[in-house]
Amino acid sequence: MSIITQINLLKKRRTKILATLGPASSEPEQIRKLIKAGVNIFRQNMSHGDHSYHIETYKRIRAIAEELDLPVGILADLCGPKIRTGKFKKGSIELKNNETVIVTTRDVEGKPGLIPSQYSSLANDVEPEDRILLADGTLELEVDNIEGTEISCTVIYGGTLGNHKGINLPGVKVSAPSLTEKDITDAKLALELGVDFLALSFVRSAEDILDLRKLIQSHDSDARIIAKIEKPEALDEASAILDAADGIMVARGDLGVELNPEQVPVAQHQLIDLARKKFKPVIVATQMLESMIENARPTRAEVTDVAYAVTLGTDAIMLSGETAVGAFPVEAVKMMDRVARQTESYLWTHDAYSAKLPESNSKIAMSVWDAVANSMAQMAQDLKVHGVVVISQSGMSAATMSSARPAAPVVAITNRPDICRKMAMLWGVIPVLSENAGKSNPNVLARKVVLDEGLALVGEKILLIRGFHSDNALNTPSVTVITI
Ligand code: PGA
Ligand code: MN
Repeated sequence: MSIITQINLLKKRRTKILATLGPASSEPEQIRKLIKAGVNIFRQNMSHGDHSYHIETYKRIRAIAEELDLPVGILADLCGPKIRTGKFKKGSIELKNNETVIVTTRDVEGKPGLIPSQYSSLANDVEPEDRILLADGTLELEVDNIEGTEISCTVIYGGTLGNHKGINLPGVKVSAPSLTEKDITDAKLALELGVDFLALSFVRSAEDILDLRKLIQSHDSDARIIAKIEKPEALDEASAILDAADGIMVARGDLGVELNPEQVPVAQHQLIDLARKKFKPVIVATQMLESMIENARPTRAEVTDVAYAVTLGTDAIMLSGETAVGAFPVEAVKMMDRVARQTESYLWTHDAYSAKLPESNSKIAMSVWDAVANSMAQMAQDLKVHGVVVISQSGMSAATMSSARPAAPVVAITNRPDICRKMAMLWGVIPVLSENAGKSNPNVLARKVVLDEGLALVGEKILLIRGFHSDNALNTPSVTVITI
């Protein structure tokens, strides 16, 4: 057997790319370049930047996407109960191994030996022998005793600690509400602007999602909720959280601090499989091309990490610091795009996608949704079709087809621009806006759109999926084979 490394890149990338906005990517020219390089969805990180910044960048993205006529989604990422250090008199302090330090919830400036935190319940939540991790887990303290607002700790792993660095409390039940005052203010702004997705950090249970859902409904919005899985409690509750939310993010940055690092790839694998089973999108995030914050080329390990997430069939992969503050934001997107398409080409030519269809159980009937999705993927394979067309009102039919990871792109036609942008998150889905969706003859519309998109030539085959409905009585899905 010969090893082929020169496989043509797939024309249409299946895995979607999210890019976090920041100082390195806020200028209109930069946003335009990032979209052209392949960004499908931008993340506005509410942990940084003020409201006027978010309003300005939101408007820029919408204007540029419209000008380029591309469905680009916007996701606002709410901080949730993220615990941070306060400010230090000199900007930072040094922590030495084995020394004793005080963590205080008093509103004071920090200095050597004294670490402030604005999270007022910290002293109530921790107990002696608990671990307090600082600055993405690079520094570690062990709690000795607690007196009122003062937590006395021994430094286990020392180093430099700066202002507003993250604090993680692995194994500690944090009593802070999931939706903080700041989150509510940020969410209201995002909803008034009209974001497509709201992500919630540090989700612990399905109830956390319901509070945000109420807020969204009270704004008459159809924004979709992405639950960020970054706490061990969320892994235990993953199935219920996924049922309550519209998608998940494998937030490996914080998850990797709260768990042992070796547990993260396994969690990632299981979360992707679970999300696929529930027809909901999943994003793999953090440090994917981390070294590109400083360098024009990634490490081989990072490239392999991106390829692994693509191989597992994630819907989307995300860039954080790489596009927010890095020196090479456009190069990072281009690199991600090429790695994804190279990997997908290989998977596609080796029929590796459909090999992962959910297995049928001989005793119990599958759901209608699963069965039609499976049959569609099998037919796409058997007939070597060039596209799977679905006419989607809410994006649900598109998500169902996408979850079977068919070998041909899923062309999802809708008459709603907001649904187009939401479908930009889904694996393998090409969202197409058409006023005729739901009006003109679906066969005619499917033929026209596939030709317009340059997906199939005369004589080639496509599939048309229609008739899905959330109401069982009206759910009459069908698969039609069309020869162009
Ligand atoms: P963050 O979330 O970048 O908002 O912290 C992602 C992660 O923790 O991986
Ligand atoms: Mn996080």
